[in-house]
Amino acid sequence: MAKVVILGGGLAGISAAYHLEQNGFHDYVLFEKERDIGGLCGTVEQDGFTFDYTGHLLHINDPYFEQLIADVVGFDQFNVINRKSFIYSQDTYTKFPYQINLRGLPIETISACIDGYVKRHKHIKNPKNFKEWVLKNFGSGFARHFFSPYQQKIFACSLNEITASWTGRFVPNTSLEKIIAGAINEDEETPVGYNAQFYYPKKGGILFWVKKLAEQLQNKIVTNAKATTVDMVSKYVGFSNGHVETYETLINTIPLDTFLIMQRGTMANVLESAADNLRCNSVINFNLGVKRPNLSDKHWIYFPEKQYPFYRIGFGHNFADSMAPEGCSSLYGEFAHLYRTEKWVDKTLQEALQQTKKLLNIADDEIATEKIIPISHAYVIYDHWRERNLPKVHKKLHEQNVHSIGRYGAWKYCSMQETLLDGKNIAEKILKAA
Ligand SMILES: Cc1cc2nc3c(=O)[nH]c(=O)nc-3n(C[C@H](O)[C@H](O)[C@H](O)COP(=O)(O)OP(=O)(O)OC[C@H]3O[C@@H](n4cnc5c(N)ncnc54)[C@H](O)[C@@H]3O)c2cc1C
Repeated sequence: MAKVVILGGGLAGISAAYHLEQNGFHDYVLFEKERDIGGLCGTVEQDGFTFDYTGHLLHINDPYFEQLIADVVGFDQFNVINRKSFIYSQDTYTKFPYQINLRGLPIETISACIDGYVKRHKHIKNPKNFKEWVLKNFGSGFARHFFSPYQQKIFACSLNEITASWTGRFVPNTSLEKIIAGAINEDEETPVGYNAQFYYPKKGGILFWVKKLAEQLQNKIVTNAKATTVDMVSKYVGFSNGHVETYETLINTIPLDTFLIMQRGTMANVLESAADNLRCNSVINFNLGVKRPNLSDKHWIYFPEKQYPFYRIGFGHNFADSMAPEGCSSLYGEFAHLYRTEKWVDKTLQEALQQTKKLLNIADDEIATEKIIPISHAYVIYDHWRERNLPKVHKKLHEQNVHSIGRYGAWKYCSMQETLLDGKNIAEKILKAA
């Protein structure tokens, strides 16, 4: 028996293990279902190209995290990059974020955005959903030309169903001054938003730094160990290979819906209900290795318009030279569908690949390699059920000594930094309570 069992060898699980060890605690076991660790921070090498599970860029604004990266990885292992990201709409590239960079768009669009902003629905006190939140903060022009079509593509559901509680640092604000200046000026990009500058490993893709963290662990991570049953009353976890591990405290980082489904029929009502009602999208990440240098000088481009099935395309070769062989470029694209609704995926993928090649004039014989990575749990859907019930779900789990953390353990929209800090916080909390 281990005192602490950790499920999932993604960043949250590894961070929890690292911080338990940093506090001198080794009576734990970490189980990961895959052959390799990393989870969503995975990286694939193929035909000389390096592809992440879509673009994964490191943003640092927490002093503890910054020091950890310095100590465990070393900043000399990263490129420091100033973002070059754009929106492509109405045959025009405008700089990110759209709400302050209208320059180049048709005059009707610019005036609709300005007019909508001036008449924005300031009277709405507590927006009921994301749609109302956009109308309150940006107005109808920005809603029509960017926010509504773009977010609908990502979340793959009606914007009336989504709250705005996730927006925080992810959606930069604007002002009339900024909108007008951005519609006229041709200035260099001003650093706006949380990802204006980011770090990227010089080699090995994003997995590089997560592996460095895992290398610090003295306990061995048990891989190829898929948890299949959990009993929160008798406190044990069963695995597909027949192994059973009992625990005092469980740190769960595998998707919460999966974790709960394993215990169907034995849980409190709110947990049973969570197993069915937690919603997220799935992303199909398509990657192309292209035999052409400098396919684009941009880091990534957002596509709000319906005619493009993808919502974003990015270029890994602009993050690090090691991402593509000499003379080649590497591209990643993403489109989304609601989790467990895969019906049209193959057709959409073919359309997405075709549109990408057309947009960037890529000939078939220029394609060196293709890698498709389906991500089952990608973006949490902040719907009203989640808002009302998630705190109750976590409370019930805590009562049974289960701490569910990380992006899908906690069921939230979080970055690598936040995930790492989640692991630290839970390790310290558990040790303090012991
Ligand atoms: C599309 C996308 C883009 C992103 N881009 C960025 C970015 O640019 N910058 C940034 O900072 N963050 C980004 N993130 C967020 C970042 O990836 C996450 O915050 C972080 O990787 C979450 O780690 P985790 O350990 O919580 O979850 P995961 O990485 O999902 O780890 C869970 C682990 O559990 C394992 N597991 C699942 N089921 C079982 C089972 N039954 N038994 C045992 N193990 C199991 C999985 O294999 C996995 O390894 C992005 C996320 C996504 C989805």
